[in-house]
Amino acid sequence: MSTILEVKNLTKKFDDNEVLKDVSFELKKGETLAVIGSSGSGKSTLLRCLNHLSPPDSGQILLEGVNINTPETDINSVRADMGFVFQDFNLFTHLTILENVMFGPLRVRRWSKDKARQIATAEIKTVGMLDKIDSYPAQLSGGQQQRISIARALALKPKLILFDEPTSALDPELTGEVLSVMTDLAHSGMTAIVVTHEMGFARSVADKVIFIDQGLIVEQGPSKTLFSSPQHERTKLFLKNFSGLE
Ligand code: ADP
Ligand code: MG
Repeated sequence: MSTILEVKNLTKKFDDNEVLKDVSFELKKGETLAVIGSSGSGKSTLLRCLNHLSPPDSGQILLEGVNINTPETDINSVRADMGFVFQDFNLFTHLTILENVMFGPLRVRRWSKDKARQIATAEIKTVGMLDKIDSYPAQLSGGQQQRISIARALALKPKLILFDEPTSALDPELTGEVLSVMTDLAHSGMTAIVVTHEMGFARSVADKVIFIDQGLIVEQGPSKTLFSSPQHERTKLFLKNFSGLE
């Protein structure tokens, strides 16, 4: 498998708060990477730095071998190449489901209306929401809105998708349908980085896991290894606290 993303020595500060400290990792095409860690450890900042929602201070982000952390980079094209699924969906409330999913293909990719509609419809079908295509977001449950937000990212035909705690704003009974769509995507060969507190998903679906603490990658490795035999005390403690909650 070829490397799709290589992150080298990424750093980010907010004033004198060092939020990411020399973060390096790589991801191969088709892999799912789970990022786990306590609240405030820098997980969202890491995702936001990758697609420049929050520009990093230093380091390299090589997407298919090209460093995108340079002033010359076309940020809009990077954002389309790295779909982003937010915790709170972020759908346009005044647009229908179809219009929401067509928006990026039309405005960002500048594809024709026919092509945008065809791709949007296909992705809405992928997430099992064809019957709601003409509805508005407010008519959908949170789980359904998050599935549409995944379709919206997919419709840009991204190279990878970044998920920032995609189920943590949902009632527990709605997380399953979103995790199931994400599991299907992982099995279909989509490349993804998933910030999550769903340890079951991280353990069974992710290929690799990064444990981040206070902006530092404490440990990373294949998910089976990291969960069954964590090497560092901080990782052990984090996982132990979690197993107590599950
Ligand atoms: P996580 O997603 O792991 O909960 P975040 O990446 O959101 O953590 O936050 C990491 C740290 O960066 C926290 O200390 C947070 O307060 C700080 N931080 C995040 N975003 C900003 C911002 N826009 N301005 C200032 N500080 C921020
Ligand atoms: Mg976060």
